[in-house]
Amino acid sequence: MPKLTLDRILQSQGFGTRKYCRELIEDGEVAIAGNVVTDYKATPDTDGLTFTLFDEEWIYREHVYIVLNKPANIECSRKPSHHPGVLSILPEQFTWRDVQPVGRLDHDTTGLLLMSDDGSFIHAQSSPKRHIPKLYVATTHDPVTPELVAQLLAGVKLHDEPGPLAALSCRMLGQHEIEIVLEQGKYHQVKRMLAAAGNHCSALRRTAIGGLTLDALELELGEWCYLEPEHLALLA
Ligand code: URA
Repeated sequence: MPKLTLDRILQSQGFGTRKYCRELIEDGEVAIAGNVVTDYKATPDTDGLTFTLFDEEWIYREHVYIVLNKPANIECSRKPSHHPGVLSILPEQFTWRDVQPVGRLDHDTTGLLLMSDDGSFIHAQSSPKRHIPKLYVATTHDPVTPELVAQLLAGVKLHDEPGPLAALSCRMLGQHEIEIVLEQGKYHQVKRMLAAAGNHCSALRRTAIGGLTLDALELELGEWCYLEPEHLALLA
């Protein structure tokens, strides 16, 4: 693999255009192992590379894998129309790196959202063949009943779906709160399943994807963190 020059390294990490990255380097803004590097043609080893820029220490990452506790009123779509897009609440480098959500949450759904600039990761995670369980906590308009739980477990028919869709598991958490685990990721699936079962979802939160849980990550709404190898293992 040819070695990357420092300007390309900075560009690959989302610090802006190559021209701008060259300027940063020539202006003495970049240091490696405590030494300022002003030659943009320098080719430091990217394996385990850390560098200082804007008085912050950065780790070179070929790809980024992050998890966000998505707040409400944020859209996951590439071209948000009514609310700010999810990238607007993340560091600007992620926009430059073309980080994308893995699947989508509705604008009013909160909770776990994976994001990455690695196309194969996004593809693998979104593949319906993976059957990765996703856990949701829904607030319902009408009280949760044993019949509602039974219906969701047995499967409900949704418009445009060939067969009934059932929850992998489902339990009542409170009078107006239900936990639903799904292994598919159909459009508005939780809301449509609740509606098909005769109730209405008034708030929705995704609390786990595979073995990765919001509780363990301890992220406040709007907070994000990098997915470390031990987190990625929980998604396998
Ligand atoms: N199901 C929904 O209805 N909405 C979401 O955002 C996710 C799952």
